[in-house]
Amino acid sequence: MATTHRSPRLYVERELDGTGLTLDEGEAHYLVHVLRLKPGDRLVVFNGNGTERDASVESLQRRGAMLALAAVRPLLPESSLDLTLIQALAKSDAMDLIVQKATELGVRTLVPVYTEHSVVKLDIERSERRVDHWRKIARSACEQCGRHMPPRIEGAAPLALALEALPVAPMRLALDPSAERSLEGAAPTNGLIVAIGPEGGFGAADWRQLDAAEFGRVTLGPRVLRAETAALAICAIAQARWGDLQR
Ligand code: SAH
Repeated sequence: MATTHRSPRLYVERELDGTGLTLDEGEAHYLVHVLRLKPGDRLVVFNGNGTERDASVESLQRRGAMLALAAVRPLLPESSLDLTLIQALAKSDAMDLIVQKATELGVRTLVPVYTEHSVVKLDIERSERRVDHWRKIARSACEQCGRHMPPRIEGAAPLALALEALPVAPMRLALDPSAERSLEGAAPTNGLIVAIGPEGGFGAADWRQLDAAEFGRVTLGPRVLRAETAALAICAIAQARWGDLQR
């Protein structure tokens, strides 16, 4: 049962080891109304744990569907660059865009943080709902772009806490429009962590924390970019220089 890289892709959060898969109402709805599939049509299902399989629609019910599972598919390799974004919480449409595009551009980890000038403050319940919402966006982006593993999206935390939890090995950079250094000369060998400020930029207290955590300040050039533009630009530059985006 051949599928191509243009086959519709469905993310399901469970094991894919049998010969069939029962879809719940929401998944079946997506299958019929978004992917527009009918019985007999082919698709690819994947689960974010490294299993991806050819499938076909066996039957559609009013509140669900059955898929037949066939060959296990080779996985699209992840970028060799282990890229983490520390993103100061921006407005919700900007955050949604960053999550979607960062997924397409191969970011492995996304750490949303509160900073001095973050316009958005979330209580715990809203914060959990936002993270769920971002994870859904990331999964949809994986369905669309062929990636099998969504980025890990951490719960939103204050910058200081997020910095404490970072792995030690990767190179650390903070984007700063008024920095004197550019990315020239940077050579991340054990991964790269990039911090991006909110609409109002990083505040003095944020910079003290970033300096203490040894983030090197770098500029992306003379124009001040919106936070979401800066995030997409650094992902594209980093993947083109050190990862798998081809120039
Ligand atoms: N008035 C703010 C602008 C914030 S733009 C300031 O002066 O900092 C939002 C974020 O995008 C910034 O905090 C920075 O991380 C990033 N950014 C925008 N333009 C940039 C540039 N030209 N170089 C490096 N980072 C930039």
